[in-house]
Amino acid sequence: MIKIEHLSKKFGDLVVLRDVTIEIKSGEVISIIGPSGTGKSTFLRCINLLDRPSGGAIHIDGVNILDPKADVSKIRQKMNMVFQSFNLFAHLSVMENLTIGPVKLLGLSRSDAERKSRDLLKLVGLAEKAGSYPDELSGGQKQRVAIARCMAMEPRIILFDEPTSALDPTMVSEVLSVIRRLAKDGMTMAIVTHEMDFARDVSNRVLYMDEGCIYEEGTPEEIFERPQKEKTRAFINRIRSFHYHIGTPDYDLYGMNAEIEMFCEKQILPMKTRQNLLLIVEEMLQLYTPWLRTAHLDMTISYSEKKESLEVVFESSGSALNLFDNAQLPDELGLTIIKSLTESIDYQRLGDKNRLLLILKKMVK
Ligand code: ADP
Ligand code: MG
Repeated sequence: MIKIEHLSKKFGDLVVLRDVTIEIKSGEVISIIGPSGTGKSTFLRCINLLDRPSGGAIHIDGVNILDPKADVSKIRQKMNMVFQSFNLFAHLSVMENLTIGPVKLLGLSRSDAERKSRDLLKLVGLAEKAGSYPDELSGGQKQRVAIARCMAMEPRIILFDEPTSALDPTMVSEVLSVIRRLAKDGMTMAIVTHEMDFARDVSNRVLYMDEGCIYEEGTPEEIFERPQKEKTRAFINRIRSFHYHIGTPDYDLYGMNAEIEMFCEKQILPMKTRQNLLLIVEEMLQLYTPWLRTAHLDMTISYSEKKESLEVVFESSGSALNLFDNAQLPDELGLTIIKSLTESIDYQRLGDKNRLLLILKKMVK
């Protein structure tokens, strides 16, 4: 139904969308997730021609909508959008908000438009609010009116841009329920959202956007359970990491420890976990000391908020070096301490680098 090929969008020198290619079929519900600033809104705005794409092609039902001769208002009505900030007409009643489009753009008579609007208000649970004005409604109610208004234009697809982000937490679920209902009725939708549980159970496809493109896509199971690419995994598992480079044996140990403590503070890690982490890092660096004269060492500490797991990766340059290989080790005590605090220790030789991954034992709460 919609075919988007090599879509790109620049704002001046800023490249927001590099190359987006995707096909959306009738009846599909697609969730679009990703860190903020990665162009999700821009993508929807380009589809809907609120922003003019810089390159690429968009076909809807075989018609190229980027053709200069295309009828923009007709396209917008086919691909109607629901915004984070509702965008209702404040000076019009709920009923007038719903009927103005169909009367002016679809050529419906007022009575037909009103009959249809009443059905739609019923659908979103707001039949009794037909005569109210937007500022008499709660945020959740306003957003449900916005969805009904969108439906009134009989769109082929609805584009939602973070429809619940501006709402009080108590009102999120009433809006999500309405969207779920539309999904059940077979409405084609593309939804930018931060509500992961919702994205997971409402959509049949999930797009993860990053680096100006669709970085990874798949079924909800694939994206949420087994993301294949690094950035997707970091986003899904809410991984935060801390990186430290050691280029000489005279590195600033106290400075580094202070930075690690700050990282732990930010992630609100329990005191015991912090102590164990610092202890592991200290012991590991002791073990590495003889090699630091000739090799560089990169340490990355990653915390997954979702899995509540903490891991440390040490990458060293130079010849093959597995500190945990049999009897290479001089410091028995250090080794024992590290082993007692970790769940697993995994060594890999990758190219000319040594990679050691330590997963910390979970603290019993
Ligand atoms: P997201 O919705 O994923 O948070 P956006 O699409 O809103 O991301 O923005 C992507 C990038 O494009 C951001 O860096 C933003 O500052 C920039 N951007 C968005 N709209 C404009 C605009 N009209 N002019 C200039 N830069 C813009
Ligand atoms: Mg956005």
